[in-house]
Amino acid sequence: MISVAIDGPSGAGKSTISRKAAELYGFIYVDTGAIYRTIGLASKLYGIDADNSAAVVEMLPKLSIKMMYNDAGEQRMYLDGNDVSRDIRLPEVSMLASKVSAIPEVRAFLVEMQRSMAREHDVIMDGRDIGTVILPDADLKIFLTADAEDRARRRYDELTAKGVECSFDEVLADMIKRDEQDTARAAAPLKPADDAVLLDTSGNTLGQSIEAVCGLISEKTGRQAVKR
Ligand code: C5P
Repeated sequence: MISVAIDGPSGAGKSTISRKAAELYGFIYVDTGAIYRTIGLASKLYGIDADNSAAVVEMLPKLSIKMMYNDAGEQRMYLDGNDVSRDIRLPEVSMLASKVSAIPEVRAFLVEMQRSMAREHDVIMDGRDIGTVILPDADLKIFLTADAEDRARRRYDELTAKGVECSFDEVLADMIKRDEQDTARAAAPLKPADDAVLLDTSGNTLGQSIEAVCGLISEKTGRQAVKR
């Protein structure tokens, strides 16, 4: 099986680029942020303070979290039998995800779910610790980044396109705070793996970034895009 790890801060374009590259190469795209978001949402629904690590850890065994793919190949997240794929995208849930993801027990709880995907399929997996912790033997590791303003602009455009009401300044402040939390935490902090290729997408069009990522995939895995 081939595995490609794509890590980086929020808004660097990881999910859009990974989804497109996976489609081109016939790999499965695994969005690991969605799993942390599901636990963040669960803390809200269960009425648990995401800053209270002990209470979050106590909640974990009660949760049924499933990651499934529909006929269109889209990843869907289920919490206790309900499809929560839309709810986990709310900005409020981004911050809850970032809080619960700093808890080592939460990360340990999710390791196997992520690794089993890479054992069973050719994958492009994106997140914060894929190259450093989840798939240390990935065939290719990319650390994708861009200027904070560029990233906030993309996230803002994405949210407003989905009809979520927000201001650019709010999105930028939220993103900077979340990046700080993700980078400063002791458990699996956001950082490039020693053998990761650093790719800065500032000023790139989406097409240019996809081209750059696909070039690396073909070079490192020997596979060619099956679809163009
Ligand atoms: O990628 P996304 O922005 O959806 O992730 C939401 C949050 O989940 C991140 O801010 C980060 O705190 C956490 N996360 C993580 N490890 C991953 C993926 C996401 O800690 N592999």
